[in-house]
Amino acid sequence: MRIGVLALQGDFDAHRQRLEELGAAVVLVKKVEELDSLDGLVIPGGESSTFLRLLGESGLKKLHEFVRMKPTFGTCAGAILLAREVEDPRQAGLGAIDMVIRRNAYGRQIDSSIRQGLFRGSPIEMVFIRAPKIERLGPSVEVLAKEGNDPVVVRQGKAMAATFHPELSGDSRIHQEFLELVANRTIS
Ligand code: GLN
Repeated sequence: MRIGVLALQGDFDAHRQRLEELGAAVVLVKKVEELDSLDGLVIPGGESSTFLRLLGESGLKKLHEFVRMKPTFGTCAGAILLAREVEDPRQAGLGAIDMVIRRNAYGRQIDSSIRQGLFRGSPIEMVFIRAPKIERLGPSVEVLAKEGNDPVVVRQGKAMAATFHPELSGDSRIHQEFLELVANRTIS
């Protein structure tokens, strides 16, 4: 399985490490042309507005085509990019997941925090950094993890999103979940 990690900015290298530990062959994607040869893609955290600027209109179009065809996992800023609607401020979303997401929703006081949530019913550490909050979910979106009452890992079809940074915890369950999604989609 060849998994790309979008490496335009942000914390892509921690994702590379996690995925390699799980046995995936990882490609750091610097140009959208490199997407063609991949089975799946991780869009890391960073600054979603910067991603949009760096991708430009043609890069965004290419990314949009990819997420329609192949499994994609967005974390934090990556989750924002996958949303149907983005608030605070409003910006373009790829619409891969039927959700409304609010950027920097925890305010400046709690810029970042480590909290415990539940992933498929089991406790898991969650590292939030200037995290967005999922405000509304469409009926076809499955919630895989919650922190308190908030959905924090969701999936719709082949797109998966986490509002926190699973790559920064020593727990590979969420990346494993994504690799299983890729494996299942590659076979079927
Ligand atoms: N606040 C960032 C944004 O709005 C996301 C932060 C992150 O990816 N850690 O895009």
